[in-house]
Amino acid sequence: MANKLRKALGKAEWNITIVDKEDTHYYQPGFLFIPFGNYTKKDVVKPIDKYLPSGITLIKKDIQKIDPVSNIVTLADATSLTYDILIIASGTQIKPDETLGLKDVLWQKDIFDFYTLEGALALHKCFESWKGGKLVMAITEIPFKCPIAPIEFVCLADAFFTKKGIRNNVEITLVTPLPGAFTKPIATQMLSGVLSSKNINIIPDFYIEHIDNENKKLVSYDEKEVPFDVLTIVPVNKGADFIGASGLGDELNFIPVNKQTLQHEQYKNIFAIGDAAALPSSKAGSVAHFEADVLFENILSAIKTETLEAKFDGHSNCYIETGFGKATLIDFNYETEPLPGNFPIPGIGPFKLLKTTWINHLGKLFFRWLYWNILLKARPLPVSNHMSMAGKKTDRL
Ligand SMILES: Cc1cc2nc3c(=O)[nH]c(=O)nc-3n(C[C@H](O)[C@H](O)[C@H](O)COP(=O)(O)OP(=O)(O)OC[C@H]3O[C@@H](n4cnc5c(N)ncnc54)[C@H](O)[C@@H]3O)c2cc1C
Repeated sequence: MANKLRKALGKAEWNITIVDKEDTHYYQPGFLFIPFGNYTKKDVVKPIDKYLPSGITLIKKDIQKIDPVSNIVTLADATSLTYDILIIASGTQIKPDETLGLKDVLWQKDIFDFYTLEGALALHKCFESWKGGKLVMAITEIPFKCPIAPIEFVCLADAFFTKKGIRNNVEITLVTPLPGAFTKPIATQMLSGVLSSKNINIIPDFYIEHIDNENKKLVSYDEKEVPFDVLTIVPVNKGADFIGASGLGDELNFIPVNKQTLQHEQYKNIFAIGDAAALPSSKAGSVAHFEADVLFENILSAIKTETLEAKFDGHSNCYIETGFGKATLIDFNYETEPLPGNFPIPGIGPFKLLKTTWINHLGKLFFRWLYWNILLKARPLPVSNHMSMAGKKTDRL
């Protein structure tokens, strides 16, 4: 947004300030590959200021609170900033403390997350010497960012332990509160087929009540149990604490905004983008990218006190690693679930929707370069922010 807005807004009239508690930006999709030794820390970490244009002020401080009536942002050292327009892009964080027994004696010994760099690195260390047993990938609650990452994780684990020659000693299970592997029916059917072909079990409708560290078991609210030797988990996801402290969010600290314009439902000069927003779309980088085009138009309209005409349609686009150098691809929005077909060129592709191909896998790998070099710098891409039906097989609707 800063890259887009700095070009469009005169420096004499508009100051643009970014506040971030970190001076590092993470390519989070790369965390998936770290446990399996495909990526290292240097592949996923860059300084934020490298990606900002000149004419932006970057403040490295923790945001404590927002006063949406007086338009004031209070920072951790009690200094404050005023604003005319506020864009909140504080993402979602994992909260392992919120599940009983999760951050206990086994945390980062036999229980790991891969949604943080530290978690992914610790899991890599574990996998290097692990001789096998029950590997459980569990999701605590919805919503969580990148709903396809746990599916990719179990597929990559299958390939990793096969290549290590110990797959027969590793039982892989995906435990999820969802009724199936994914949220949308056609993709769920396809992905369930992929998992069962790899001998990966799915336990659906499982709501974790606590983790029994002594007996190494997940225990659900309805007293079902799943034993594990190594547990990889997606802990509870929540928006930033300052959103709750400011009365700007829902019960999970996600921000209720208009699902098309991204404007806060109560405060018209506040907008939210990316994982921080409470929207019925996926919490995914692709969604943040498509939202940015819409939000850019709407910020310009808001400045001119015009009606917000640009509308976000919920567009999400994700490559899904399925292991052994293959991946599938899903493209969908608020209204249309992922369908089979070709992407982005009808009849040609080169990417295939809901099929596992090596070209899709190349797309996933190429994405890291695209992220650092095109997306963060807000350079144009030949993919519309609105989902296109071209190339999609609608007979599956
Ligand atoms: C393992 C994994 C795999 C993924 N794979 C994919 C994929 O294949 N495709 C895809 O599209 N997406 C994927 N994602 C999701 C994607 O990374 C996120 O959706 C995306 O990064 C969200 O961007 P964001 O700007 O909303 O939030 P973030 O990138 O998380 O940025 C939030 C920023 O807010 C800052 N912040 C938070 N609180 C404060 C505070 N109090 N004060 C100051 N600053 C604060 C943080 O420091 C951070 O810089 C994946 C994520 C993970 C974890």
